[in-house]
Amino acid sequence: MTTTSADLAAEVLEQLADALRGELIVPGDAGYDEARAVYNGMIDKRPAAIARCRDVADVITCVRFGRDHGIELAVRSGGHSAAGLGVADDALVIDLSLMRSTTVSPENHTVRADAGCTWGDVDHATVAFGMATPSGFLASTGVAGLALGGGIGYLSRRFGLTVDNLLSADVVLADGTLVTASASSHSDLFWALRGGGGNFGVVTSFTFRCHDIGDHGTIIGGPVFYDLADVGEVMRWYRELVPSLPEELSGWIALLTIPPVPPFPEELWGRKACGIVWCYTGPHDKADEALEPVRSYGSPLLVGLQPMPFNVLQSAFDGLYPAGLQWYWRTDFFNEISDTAIEVHHKYGEQLPTGHSTMHMYPIDGAASRVPADATAFAYRNGGWAGVIVGVDPDPANADRISQWAKDYWEELHPTSAGGGYINFLMDEGQDRVQAAYRGNYGRLAQVKGRYDPDNTFHINQNIRPANGVGG
Ligand SMILES: Cc1cc2nc3c(=O)[nH]c(=O)nc-3n(C[C@H](O)[C@H](O)[C@H](O)COP(=O)(O)OP(=O)(O)OC[C@H]3O[C@@H](n4cnc5c(N)ncnc54)[C@H](O)[C@@H]3O)c2cc1C
Repeated sequence: MTTTSADLAAEVLEQLADALRGELIVPGDAGYDEARAVYNGMIDKRPAAIARCRDVADVITCVRFGRDHGIELAVRSGGHSAAGLGVADDALVIDLSLMRSTTVSPENHTVRADAGCTWGDVDHATVAFGMATPSGFLASTGVAGLALGGGIGYLSRRFGLTVDNLLSADVVLADGTLVTASASSHSDLFWALRGGGGNFGVVTSFTFRCHDIGDHGTIIGGPVFYDLADVGEVMRWYRELVPSLPEELSGWIALLTIPPVPPFPEELWGRKACGIVWCYTGPHDKADEALEPVRSYGSPLLVGLQPMPFNVLQSAFDGLYPAGLQWYWRTDFFNEISDTAIEVHHKYGEQLPTGHSTMHMYPIDGAASRVPADATAFAYRNGGWAGVIVGVDPDPANADRISQWAKDYWEELHPTSAGGGYINFLMDEGQDRVQAAYRGNYGRLAQVKGRYDPDNTFHINQNIRPANGVGG
């Protein structure tokens, strides 16, 4: 049985507050509304308390408190979950966002990051040494949620997913014990953490393998935009081109509205477009050769390719998508971009409902597809693309419109997909969609869940039901 906030006596919460190094924020406190807010402005949950943990001991205290008092636990790091799973009504939110230190070892090519880091924190730390570990396409996203779900980004073709570069993780388990999971310690847990999301415990720090990139961390990248009328031709060219490119070059394709802000040329502001954002991380003396097919193709509206530190490209779109906008997502993996799919993209690209709304397809071939599908929990390793349709707008009055556009688009596109979607782009879509995301790996994940969290203590997530446990 779970406890509601009304039942949680102030006295009990005071005991928890006294036991923490970090702050405990409860309803009525001045900072409560700010502390309960997550990145997606559509999410409006009222937790019983938010514990802003300072260290691992605080996390352990919270996990034990939740269990002792029958209070649900939500775990939040960067707060970027589309479905808003870092917060829940009447729950105790274990907020790791104050735990943000990083330690780089240039000799070992590793970085250790506390779970509250954003990818901006990690890139800042590693690019100073000319290195990076594979992450995503934005700096403000949390390391923890992204890394635990898979991690698809600019470096996936060359160095694999984020989970393929995870060396170890410190995890507070449901019984409050702390373990280190790696290939040689709790290897079953380590397998499950690499894609299984927040199901197995609270990760307090990660150690990742790093790679030298570009010219001491300076890559060549940026967007190339084409008229939306050319989307069919561009997508057919792109789907053939990407698999033929050296793995040092990757590019994700998008349908978008050109933002009405510098550095975009004013004459293009507000124009619907098909864009590809490229990132070349190889040696600069080979860059012209690698980028030649990109530079010589079609009649682009804008070519924004230029040398820049990797972390500058990573944070290039952060300003366009500040926290607090309304977001509604839909996702699928695609083995191919079929002609039928391209027609659907064209149709819904013409109907982009708001300036922020967009569709992205991220390549997950190359190194990411050489890892066997059962080597980690992340199951979609056939090559191809991870797709996401995102309705976005600052105005809550448009929430239904952006959601409906995303749902309709997804319904028409889904038959061309590989079946399941990326766990980190799922909304609250039910067990079938969670199982489809893991395909053949779901059964093994349920076994590991049964071993490490048989009571399903960690269930405010894309939930894996424990085999032989609660809900199993
Ligand atoms: C604008 C935007 C851009 C994105 N771009 C990319 C991208 O390029 N590539 C990509 O792969 N994904 C991307 N994502 C998806 C992203 O990976 C997920 O939203 C991810 O959950 C974000 O992690 P977080 O820590 O910020 O989220 P949170 O909301 O803090 O957490 C999400 C969930 O992860 C789990 N979790 C969080 N922290 C911990 C922890 N310390 N221990 C255990 N479980 C934990 C919990 O279940 C939690 O509910 C993007 C999301 C957004 C909103």
